[in-house]
Amino acid sequence: MSDLDLIVRGGRVVTGSGVTVADVGIADGTIAAVGADLSLSADEVIDARGLHVFPGGVDSHVHFNDPGRTEWETIATGSAALAAGGYTTFVDMPLNSRPVTTSGAAFDAKLQAATANAVVDFGLWGGLVPGNLEHLEELVQRGVMGFKAFMCSSGIDDFPQSDDRTLRAGMERIAQFDSILLVHAEDAATTDRLTREALAAGKKSARDFIRSRPAAAELEAISRAVSLAGETRCRLHIVHVSTARGVQLVDEAKASGVDVSCETCPHYLLYTEEDLERLGGLGKCAPPLRTNKDRDGLWRFVFDGVLPMVVSDHSPSTLALKQGPDFFKLWGGISGCQSTRQLLLWQARARSVGPSTISAATAGNVARRFGLARKGEVAVGFDADLWLADLSIDGVLRREDLLYRNQFSAHEGAPIHGRTVRTMVRGQTVFMDGRVDRSSRGRFIRPAR
Ligand SMILES: [Zn+2]
Repeated sequence: MSDLDLIVRGGRVVTGSGVTVADVGIADGTIAAVGADLSLSADEVIDARGLHVFPGGVDSHVHFNDPGRTEWETIATGSAALAAGGYTTFVDMPLNSRPVTTSGAAFDAKLQAATANAVVDFGLWGGLVPGNLEHLEELVQRGVMGFKAFMCSSGIDDFPQSDDRTLRAGMERIAQFDSILLVHAEDAATTDRLTREALAAGKKSARDFIRSRPAAAELEAISRAVSLAGETRCRLHIVHVSTARGVQLVDEAKASGVDVSCETCPHYLLYTEEDLERLGGLGKCAPPLRTNKDRDGLWRFVFDGVLPMVVSDHSPSTLALKQGPDFFKLWGGISGCQSTRQLLLWQARARSVGPSTISAATAGNVARRFGLARKGEVAVGFDADLWLADLSIDGVLRREDLLYRNQFSAHEGAPIHGRTVRTMVRGQTVFMDGRVDRSSRGRFIRPAR
């Protein structure tokens, strides 16, 4: 009898405090030992010398659209793409599946689809929309990670935006359940008015779209959301913050005692308004791409930990929905969950941001905030979710490598750092030699609070 099932030997283990050469011992899918030259026996040994050993990534913001809009993405293809990029856990948004996840029955349908198809572990967000207050408790009982609401149009009719009354009432309940509310913070009054004006004037370009969703709309919505969260004592998280000032607002609210956090996405760290003409519809997202000053500011906040999370907001569609003469009519959302870490690692080098910061922003900090208690660290007692990456290899993101249902991305052609050698979920290899083990099945995770 061996002491362990598996030892990953001699890799450069990435922890919150830095990178150290160590062995990782695994038993029953759990990390049982981490240390230099472990003198334990194991049934299997993986030689990781020269490789980095990251905690498996945790992407808390994906739209896999399954069930119901599986022509855009599926849980099978989306989770396979994650595994290829070193991710071992996702939390799926309550839209754009059909039905949207705003009731217990809708949750049950999503859970069934995910249980049958996810190749990595997963949690599920519920939705807060006008009229579903009575369903929040059944969603909590079923184990949602928290709730998501929109302060502007969501892009689909079946997930209406929340007015302030809905937000306040929702926050009161969510606080009682000790859960968390995620908000898409753009002020609808501003974006609706500017959109109407643009359309009336026949303006249809990418630039016109950007002007219809100014930074001020984000800041106005963040201010309202954090003040409501302060009043209701509800835990709050602002998704995809696109401006440096937005992160500052969140940080100021946090300093004043509001339990609030925020995230940004790779596209806001990689591209600016100037890039949108080149990217075309593939680069359309909301909030839109911002200025160089915002991009630099966001990176500074990632560097110093004020901005603790970078998640993909993988929001795919068919290619046809991303093409056409009227930019306002195109689907807004960027396909990117497969490449988050490799894109960030490339950009991070030029900005003197180390791999442990990227690791924390894409795993540990996300897991801690949302209650994924066994995820996000290479440490004893955590799930043996590992990304073995060869950081001696640089490359370019190629369309043919993408595992999405619709094989395209705004990031095609972008430089990437590192190649996935192996991705493991609870000690089981789910991706190796460029191939996903599609027979792997992830587990549903409830938040630990
Ligand atoms: Zn989203």
